[in-house]
Amino acid sequence: MSFVLRGATIVDGTNSPGYQADVLVENDRIAKIGEIAAQEGVEEIDLTGLVLAPGFIDVHTHFDAQVFWDSQFTPSCWHGVTTVVQGNCGFGIAPMRPEDRFAITDTLARVEGMSLDTLEAGITWNFTTFPEYMEQIDRAPKMLNLATFVGHTPIRMYVLGADDSATREATPEEIAKMAELVGEAMDSGAIGFSTSQAPSHVGTKALPVSSRLASHEEVEALIKVVADKGRGVIEMTYGPEYPLVEAARISKKYGVRMTWGSLLTGLFGERGTAVGMLDASTDVGGDVWPQVSTRYITTQFHLRDSLLFWCPLPAFQEVLAAPDDKRQDLYRDPAWRDRAREEAYSGRYNPAFHELKKYSYYVEETTKHEDIKGKDLAELADERGVDLFDLILDIGLEENLETRFGVIIDNNDPVELEALLTDDRTLWGAHDAGAHVDTISDSCYTSHVLGRFVRDEKMMKLEYAVYRMTGHPADFFGFSDRGVIKEGNVADLVAFNPDTVAALEKQRVWDFPADGDRIVVHSRGIEDVWVNGELIRRDGVQIEDATPGVLVK
Ligand SMILES: [Zn+2]
Repeated sequence: MSFVLRGATIVDGTNSPGYQADVLVENDRIAKIGEIAAQEGVEEIDLTGLVLAPGFIDVHTHFDAQVFWDSQFTPSCWHGVTTVVQGNCGFGIAPMRPEDRFAITDTLARVEGMSLDTLEAGITWNFTTFPEYMEQIDRAPKMLNLATFVGHTPIRMYVLGADDSATREATPEEIAKMAELVGEAMDSGAIGFSTSQAPSHVGTKALPVSSRLASHEEVEALIKVVADKGRGVIEMTYGPEYPLVEAARISKKYGVRMTWGSLLTGLFGERGTAVGMLDASTDVGGDVWPQVSTRYITTQFHLRDSLLFWCPLPAFQEVLAAPDDKRQDLYRDPAWRDRAREEAYSGRYNPAFHELKKYSYYVEETTKHEDIKGKDLAELADERGVDLFDLILDIGLEENLETRFGVIIDNNDPVELEALLTDDRTLWGAHDAGAHVDTISDSCYTSHVLGRFVRDEKMMKLEYAVYRMTGHPADFFGFSDRGVIKEGNVADLVAFNPDTVAALEKQRVWDFPADGDRIVVHSRGIEDVWVNGELIRRDGVQIEDATPGVLVK
């Protein structure tokens, strides 16, 4: 199968200036770039007025379970993404013993915001080991290319058992067994090892996700396995004992490439703090690339069980541990409220989250509070002469805990955000496609950047933005024949209209197994997309049954 693409401006993913040329694709490869004569049997495709770029590579996704029921990897496939990297933050569903399946799906439900019913209906459990899982996802029909980390949490659950893995450190023998399993996963094609130390990651039975119980010795022993392989990278999600400089130290000690997440404006302090952290890590050395998000971190929570950063507070752990029908009683109990309010305002339990009033809260989805939708709740609390914390609880209680509150958490300082996004020491990532599906949808970041930051705000040049979403991440992972438009490379391509490209409004849909709901965002201006030389989107319409994606090892 051959076709020639004509009339587009080629932005090739290297940050070089765009240029006009024809591109000949033969089978799954870019065969020729330049002036190409019409030939019999070669389809002509006119892309006049569009930009032709390499397909985007989303380095931070959580499609580990979704891959079983959504061959398209929605919503990523609507935004010009052609390769997704899953298994981030130490999560994944392999290796997994049958008796621990509930523990991992319950953990994913709590951490990734999918319904437990969706996961139970959607995952086909015909694997136990990581290599068996790799075989399954290799065989599964895929619209996009998929690469995967092996996650610390499932490895730990497999060796210690689900209960022990969430409550204790491992013995030297158990660490050795885990190291063996990480090695086996690498040999079966994992692109690296991931771990989470984030205090916000609370799993089954409201206990910390198991990777958080690991000693430094364990974390380093597992990282060393990847280092000793001489290929692959480490992904580490922030924890108080693993600041960016510590990641840099580990990277240097073992000579291993790492990415660390996430460096967001406001998360670690006032303007300048995030860039200061980058500088400090550069001083340490190593090969560590902190992930930055291109989106203002706007998320959602509701008081039934999606408590977000209130999770680590003891008072809210009590709520999560209580049966569903007892939660409203706790929220109404004045003694509980006094305790919870004090905890929320103190910032004691999660130094990364400072205090409650730092954030901007509003009602985002409601059937009962339309009159106050979108209004800043701190202002409303002042008007009503009540405390913000109590106002949020009361609004939720009046609507049977159904109210969905929006909250702008971080990464909304435009000055520092620009500094981070245009600093070549960072890796654009942290958009969490496939996770937190009931509260966020930042997987649209590619169309968001091209529309808002490139065209509307002129924060950066188009060539630079494309480079940061294609050639740069390809280089980071060593995807040597993807991410750049050049002869011989794989034909992962996106044609978009630079004048119209944009991420559209959030929508809640009920399209997951067992009627699971989620928030999705569609795109405008992402016209044509090819994966391995095969069309998956034409004139802005998805070709739903196209499955040219491969497992990238
Ligand atoms: Zn993540």
